Amino acid sequence: MKKTRIIIAGGGPVGVVAALACAQNGYAVTLLEAEAEIDDNPRAATTHPSTLEMIARVGLIEQFISEGLVARYFQFWDKPARVKVVEFDHDTLRDETPYPFVVQTEQHKLARMGIERLKTFADAEVRCSPRATTVSQHADGATVSADGPDGTETLRGNYVIGADGGRSTIRKALDIDFEGFTWPERFLVLTTLDDFQELLAGCCYRNYLADPDEWTNLFKVAGDDGKGRWRAVFPTRVEESDDQALGDESTYSRLERVFPLGRRYNVVHRNLYKVHQRVAATFRKGRVFLAGDSAHVNNSVGGLGLNGGIHDAMELIDTLHQVITKQAGEELFDRYTRRRRTLNVEFVQEQTILNKKRLEERDPKARQARFDELRATAEDPIKQREFLLRTSLIASVRKAQSMA
Ligand SMILES: Cc1cc2nc3c(=O)[nH]c(=O)nc-3n(C[C@H](O)[C@H](O)[C@H](O)COP(=O)(O)OP(=O)(O)OC[C@H]3O[C@@H](n4cnc5c(N)ncnc54)[C@H](O)[C@@H]3O)c2cc1C
Repeated sequence: MKKTRIIIAGGGPVGVVAALACAQNGYAVTLLEAEAEIDDNPRAATTHPSTLEMIARVGLIEQFISEGLVARYFQFWDKPARVKVVEFDHDTLRDETPYPFVVQTEQHKLARMGIERLKTFADAEVRCSPRATTVSQHADGATVSADGPDGTETLRGNYVIGADGGRSTIRKALDIDFEGFTWPERFLVLTTLDDFQELLAGCCYRNYLADPDEWTNLFKVAGDDGKGRWRAVFPTRVEESDDQALGDESTYSRLERVFPLGRRYNVVHRNLYKVHQRVAATFRKGRVFLAGDSAHVNNSVGGLGLNGGIHDAMELIDTLHQVITKQAGEELFDRYTRRRRTLNVEFVQEQTILNKKRLEERDPKARQARFDELRATAEDPIKQREFLLRTSLIASVRKAQSMA
């Protein structure tokens, strides 16, 4: 009997995890990645406990942890005063998850290790360079057209997943609205080899520095060489040009405001991102589904976007598996949007907007109130546990299970 074939457009981390879950369920899968190489620009690294459980389900957890850094704590700082406000400890969740910590592993490593694992499945095909251009549907399947170095080709599958990022061609081809807004400022990401744990005494691998003038997220990643490096994320000024934001003056003065080093920071990478809060009106049309950034985008404060995308991938493949194996009818497909869209709005959009506001609060009284609230949360074991269940998206997974 012919195997069910699932075509996935987009070989980012969400497409790769979805492809692996398809292959492990016994489906034939074709993964189309538009670029010749996996994008290794600095984007996601923070991977929360609930998502680590999913990475374990696709068999990558040991490698994922070994290529990253385990971050048990995260902290909030008052940046102008250079004072730590509060620290949260994921070990509070030790009775809730086998992974009571965050792992900081760069997203391109997840994509690469997933692609390597996919190659061990006879019916999994990874194609780098063909770019999906359109999708059409039939009674029993869907067809993707793709342009590659050898011209245009047509691929037919039973189902299609658009995991092709925020500017998703598949979402546009399905004419699905991407509702929400774009922030006026952009985010500047600077990577430095200088060690902030030596500079900012008492900081940990994940630090959120509140500042009414210019907040900073400061976190450590392992780097491809495993030697460690720090990423500092800043908002740009609205009127600042790309050249100004990426220039030396901006780079070094921004890092100096985090800690005055007295010499030039050893900066190895600079990048600028537009920042949006948008959610697709639906995550499915017929036999075509959206997952990851093609379905939702958000600001990166709190590190939730990719986590939510992996949650989509796992929910979607479980749903497809139930329908394909006739444990449920096609009406179950609507539950995918119902669950994942609702949970993205409630847990990812709301939290990331609040996280950003917390860091940039300008009103001194409101700023103090936010610090007091965080301290009160950390000091009360029950409140801290509830807070971490939410930030780690464990509460989101539990809510999904209760949603019909
Ligand atoms: C600075 C920054 C920091 C972040 N930090 C975090 C974090 O710590 N934790 C977190 O959870 N999230 C974080 N995010 C968000 C995270 O990077 C994204 O949510 C994540 O990349 C989404 O993965 P994806 O696979 O859906 O999309 P992408 O990573 O965008 O991958 C999409 C892939 O599809 C390919 N593609 C595009 N069009 C086509 C096409 N037509 N045909 C075939 N292939 C196509 C692209 O080449 C790309 O490889 C951060 C984002 C930024 C900008």
